[in-house]
Amino acid sequence: MAQSPTYVILMGPPASGKGTQAERLQDVLGLSHVASGDLFRYNLKNETELGLKAKVYMDKGDLVPDDVTIAMVLDRLSREDCAKGALLDGFPRTLAQAEALEVALADSGNSINLVLNIQVPTKELISRVTGRRLCRDCGASYHIKFKRPKEEGVCDKCGGELYQRDDDTEATARRRLEVYNAQTKPLINYYSRKGSLANIDGNRPIDEVTDALKVAITAAL
Ligand code: AMP
Repeated sequence: MAQSPTYVILMGPPASGKGTQAERLQDVLGLSHVASGDLFRYNLKNETELGLKAKVYMDKGDLVPDDVTIAMVLDRLSREDCAKGALLDGFPRTLAQAEALEVALADSGNSINLVLNIQVPTKELISRVTGRRLCRDCGASYHIKFKRPKEEGVCDKCGGELYQRDDDTEATARRRLEVYNAQTKPLINYYSRKGSLANIDGNRPIDEVTDALKVAITAAL
C-alpha cells in the first residue's frame, strides 16, 4: 500500500530562517518545498494577474487576502510533485488559512503531521530582514553578515544575481511583525492544542537550528 503523504509546516516570524531551513530540510524529508511568499514573488516576476493583485499587499507588509492565498496554495499542493506531501513555509498565516488547509487535507484522508515553530527575539529579526538578499533566479536566500555568498552579489547555487526584496526595509519589516503578532501568532496555540507543535530556538547558528529541526522531525515522524 502506498504511504500516505506527509505535511510539515514551518512557522515563525518574518526572517526567522524558515526559507533557509526549508532549503536544508527538503532533502532530509524528501518533500516539495511550498513557500507562499515564493509563489507570490514568482507570479509578480511573471506579471500575472495574481502577482499584480498580491503586490499591493506585499509592498505594505500586509497579508494577501485569504481567498486568493488559499486557492493558490491548494492548487500548488494538488500538483504531481506534492503527491508525497509538502514542506509548507509561510502558509498558513491566519486561522482561516489553517482551517481551509485542514479541511482540504481531510477531504483526501490526510492531516498535518508536524508544525515546526522557529522562535527568534524581535530585535534580532529586524537586523536579519534588512540584511537579507535573495537570488533572482532560484530564490535561495543569503544574509550580508550571517550567510554570505562566496562571491558578492552572486548566488552560490545557480550564479543568479542577488537582490534585496522591496518589502525587506525596516519600516515594512516592522509592519510585517505587527501582522505576524496579530494574525499568525495565534496559530501557535491552535497547533499546540492539536499536539502537533514543536518549538525550536532559532536564535543560534544556522547549522544548530537545522540539527534541532532534524531531531524534532525524527522524534515526530
Ligand atoms: P514571505 O516571503 O513569506 O515573507 O512573504 C512575503 C509576503 O507575501 C508577505 O508579507 C505577504 O504579503 C505575502 N504572503 C506570503 N504568504 C502569505 C500567506 N500565507 N497569507 C497572506 N499573505 C502571504
